[in-house]
Amino acid sequence: MLIDLGYRAPDSLEEALEILGEDSSFLILAGGTDLLVKYFDAREKMGNVLDISRLEELKKIVIEGEKIFLGALTTHEEIYRNPDLQKKVPFLCRAAKSVGAPQIRNQGTLGGNMANASPAADLAPPLIAVGARILLAGPDGERSFNLDEFFTGPGKTRKNPNEIITGVEFNVPVGDFRNTFLKVGQRRALAIAVASLAIALSCRQGKVEEVRLSAGSVAPIPLRARETEKILQGQKLDNLPLEKAADQLEKEASPIDDIRGTRVYRARVLGNLLRKGLQEVLSQEGVSENG
Ligand SMILES: Cc1cc2nc3c(=O)[nH]c(=O)nc-3n(C[C@H](O)[C@H](O)[C@H](O)COP(=O)(O)OP(=O)(O)OC[C@H]3O[C@@H](n4cnc5c(N)ncnc54)[C@H](O)[C@@H]3O)c2cc1C
Repeated sequence: MLIDLGYRAPDSLEEALEILGEDSSFLILAGGTDLLVKYFDAREKMGNVLDISRLEELKKIVIEGEKIFLGALTTHEEIYRNPDLQKKVPFLCRAAKSVGAPQIRNQGTLGGNMANASPAADLAPPLIAVGARILLAGPDGERSFNLDEFFTGPGKTRKNPNEIITGVEFNVPVGDFRNTFLKVGQRRALAIAVASLAIALSCRQGKVEEVRLSAGSVAPIPLRARETEKILQGQKLDNLPLEKAADQLEKEASPIDDIRGTRVYRARVLGNLLRKGLQEVLSQEGVSENG
């Protein structure tokens, strides 16, 4: 199907960037689970395709010292099944496991999930909550952004067309780190989120030392809920202001009405996810420094 189109499949990132340097109209193809669906009925509009699936540099998961790097071509299944990630950032694995069905999880990639910039992208909330930076490479060099500043609208990011996402990186959470990812869809499998929520709490001496909340499908971009975070920051774990935080989170979201749910329903669901999620993290023992 792609043979009739301008199709290139370089073996190295350097070669891929040379191609994009000469012609930035090339469409980047990774797993194809979003791109090919989008262009299935509009083949003539697809144009040149740059298949990056052979770029070994982008397939790595590296956990070294205090840093974790996930290459852009890491699939959802690889994230979900990685034992180190399951230990250190279980909520990221839970989000990866919630994506589509096995076929989509084995084919779809982290980079594609970020570049596609759906407000419902399941990997975005836990990665935002863990403070990830997204790494880009282009013909003019490398750039990076905090992930919570990368998305600019549905389907839109700060990435230039001639830039390739190479991966994301973040610090290994240490100390009493508690986390969860919750998602409500219309059915159990193959469900795009009606609302999702990632909660990351760093606790110390029975108090919330740092909190990050990020929600999917409730705003034009994956939401970082800073105002709700302020309500939980510094609070005692045995006396968290659950109701106040849930009310604030419902206000902070700006969902739309669509076929998956109304604005009001999505906001309600989100408040409930926070109540449920905070109860869950309170019952966790936390990932320890050595865990
Ligand atoms: C049936 C079905 C169910 C799905 N369910 C879910 C779900 O539950 N949750 C969810 O989050 N998503 C879901 N998706 C969406 C999709 O599978 C994911 O977003 C996937 O991670 C996309 O990755 P990909 O490699 O297939 O991207 P592709 O389709 O190859 O590319 C998607 C976009 O990203 C760009 N791109 C890809 N990689 C890079 C890169 N490294 N650098 C720069 N640009 C790049 C492409 O140019 C394109 O614009 C579903 C899709 C389908 C078809």
